[in-house]
Amino acid sequence: MQTDLVAALDIGGTKIAGALVSGDGTILVRAQRPTPARENGETVMRAVEEVLAELTSSPLWPRAYALGIGSAGPVDASRGTVSPVNVPGWRDYPLVDRVRAAAGNLPVELIGDGVAITAAEHWQGAARGHDNALCMVVSTGVGGGLVLGGRLHTGPTGNAGHIGHISVDLDGDPCPCGARGCVERIASGPNIARRALENGWVPGPDGDTSAAAVAAAARTGDPVARASFDRAAQALAAGIAATATLVEIDIAVIGGGVGKAGEILFTPLRRYLADYATLSFVRPLTVAPARMGTDAGLVGAAAAALAGVAAAGV
Ligand SMILES: [Zn+2]
Repeated sequence: MQTDLVAALDIGGTKIAGALVSGDGTILVRAQRPTPARENGETVMRAVEEVLAELTSSPLWPRAYALGIGSAGPVDASRGTVSPVNVPGWRDYPLVDRVRAAAGNLPVELIGDGVAITAAEHWQGAARGHDNALCMVVSTGVGGGLVLGGRLHTGPTGNAGHIGHISVDLDGDPCPCGARGCVERIASGPNIARRALENGWVPGPDGDTSAAAVAAAARTGDPVARASFDRAAQALAAGIAATATLVEIDIAVIGGGVGKAGEILFTPLRRYLADYATLSFVRPLTVAPARMGTDAGLVGAAAAALAGVAAAGV
């Protein structure tokens, strides 16, 4: 039988999604389970195995020749292990071995979820056609990944491009990662909402205190809400400018819930980029909203499986 498909797993703190994906990125078969994130490691793995069992029972399964995993991080691709912050039952968990065993010993590629999103945006989304790009997810946390010289740059452990934990405020607030003033500590959705509340923003009658609610208030002209997005935009701009100066990216793509805030985020972001990205070789840098939807993680994991097998010369 023709082997022209790859399998993909997208493992996050709330759901575990799986798919069989064609070489052009079309999702042909899907499976999904909620992540039992507070349970022990074996219970979480059972949910992964249930997703895989649905895929392997598909009549299309024999056409799959590789499997890609995009997982919440940190991951260690060199050892095939994951330690997702939001899944405490998995610490140095041997995910690659376990998935390979449940998937008929297919070759398995593991990448972090930020790198997976980047692979998807580069393949089919806003970074398509750009050989040097930074893609970011700005939501509960801030993650990212890099495309350099036309190829996904994962780094030895699969975490390269994790811009959320670059410090942009040297003596800033302590970050849960242990450093200070990280991009995530300033620009993530919960931190945008926290800062607005601390500065006197009053949520609407529905009591919604999410970053989306802050964005809605900013759109109506609320100065405190606007200021909180302005500060997030400044942190993102500093991180993006630093990245561009180090590795010469020409586009930064921003997705995730905060990325959906639209011009409330992008207008100040472009203004601050002009302040921080000043050298001649970074001045042409543009920023754009992500184009891939909720399937980005699956499509990116599939891209990693396709690229991994190609790199191995199979
Ligand atoms: Zn940090």
